[in-house]
Amino acid sequence: VDGPLAGLKVAIVGGSVIGCAAATALAAAGADVTVLERSQSELETRGSVLGLPGRLIPSLLERNLLTSDFVWRQIPNRQWLVKDGDEPMGRLIWEQPFTISSVSWAALFQGFRNNVPDSSYRKGSEVTAVADDAAGPRVSLASGEVVRANLVVAADGYLSGVRERLFGGGVEQSYSGYVVWRGWFDEREGLLRSVEHLEGPMKTVGFEHGHASVWLVPSSESAQPGRRQVTWNIYGGPLPPGILTENGAVMSVPPGRLSTEQRAFLHDLVDEVFPPLLADVVKVTPQPALTPVYDVKVPSLAAGRIVLVGDAGTVVRPVTGSGAVKGVEDALALADALVRTGGDVDAAVAEYNAERLPIDLGLVDLGQRMGVALVDDVPDWPSLSAEELEGWMADAMSGWYATEEAADASRQHLR
Ligand SMILES: Cc1cc2nc3c(=O)[nH]c(=O)nc-3n(C[C@H](O)[C@H](O)[C@H](O)COP(=O)(O)OP(=O)(O)OC[C@H]3O[C@@H](n4cnc5c(N)ncnc54)[C@H](O)[C@@H]3O)c2cc1C
Repeated sequence: VDGPLAGLKVAIVGGSVIGCAAATALAAAGADVTVLERSQSELETRGSVLGLPGRLIPSLLERNLLTSDFVWRQIPNRQWLVKDGDEPMGRLIWEQPFTISSVSWAALFQGFRNNVPDSSYRKGSEVTAVADDAAGPRVSLASGEVVRANLVVAADGYLSGVRERLFGGGVEQSYSGYVVWRGWFDEREGLLRSVEHLEGPMKTVGFEHGHASVWLVPSSESAQPGRRQVTWNIYGGPLPPGILTENGAVMSVPPGRLSTEQRAFLHDLVDEVFPPLLADVVKVTPQPALTPVYDVKVPSLAAGRIVLVGDAGTVVRPVTGSGAVKGVEDALALADALVRTGGDVDAAVAEYNAERLPIDLGLVDLGQRMGVALVDDVPDWPSLSAEELEGWMADAMSGWYATEEAADASRQHLR
């Protein structure tokens, strides 16, 4: 392939959404990429929906990194609700100016995956070691094979083995103290009599130990009524039975694996704190799941000619809706730095780290700040006026794209 990076060999560890985003951006500039993915099977069922800043998808379309049939939808505003007796949708306490684009995880993954030819995407390739010394950057596989490259990109996710090998004790990892319950189902499954009450703004419920969002988002194929997906996330609340390991760590429970007691616990929680129509959304969900929330910080995103991108670098809280965004922007910044430096790997790696490390660490801090405000130390939502909520929120969410973009749009509108 022609392009400014022609001749540059890049080995990418991990072929999920960010590994494929990196492969897409680097190959578009002419690099010769090989993606090494441990899993034998296709990954498309991994996630539900992603919230993204409004700027991201248009910029990916403009750069031809996604195709024009890519499915996404802008969500207008966010309604803050509290339970109010039997009132079906509770009481609206504030409609927050808010812009967020929604895409299905599967669509974003597939959008990038389609750009990587099967001959460059090696399934069933487990990486066991990475190195960069006098012999050059290289990756060792469980099969014994060694893959040599000019640059190694680690996109091996939140439990990154590459991060651990490079930085070990230098990695700061901490449990936030709370979990996210989440679930999704297709509108066409007909589990709800109607989804009319979920149209328009995102619905967010504030309760005593946290908050929750329910929204109607595109499926991987379509954003048209009848073919969308209903998705919800609950951040915080008391811990359910049976999720602690012997050493006190909290385990995640994948879709379909909640015990009968855990499910009953979830249903009791939503009956207690959700308006009835939103509690129903959770209770009809066939396969809810649960994920403990961790923060991960690294001392650097690079060691020699090995770089970290996406969750392999820092891990940010889901409440920021930023993990995938951060990873895609890491991938773009890396490709841009390589192009800018004319393929000088050492210079590009230094530029990449200098540009992205402060941003990626800043997002971890933002997630912690939002976690305190929206889970650990929530206000007494029902007693707040819209004005009080607005002031409080401006503090809690300053620096977050969903509120900053809305503020920019309203400034432009006033001008
Ligand atoms: C509840 C929840 C909600 C979220 N909501 C949002 C949101 O609204 N917006 C947003 O932007 N982000 C969101 N995120 C975050 C987002 O989902 C992640 O940041 C993103 O999926 C990370 O992608 P990744 O490719 O870096 O890692 P992963 O998807 O974890 O992929 C890592 C890949 O590496 C492979 N791998 C691992 N080890 C090896 C090895 N040794 N050899 C070879 N391959 C290996 C794995 O098999 C896997 O395919 C959310 C996350 C959660 C938990």
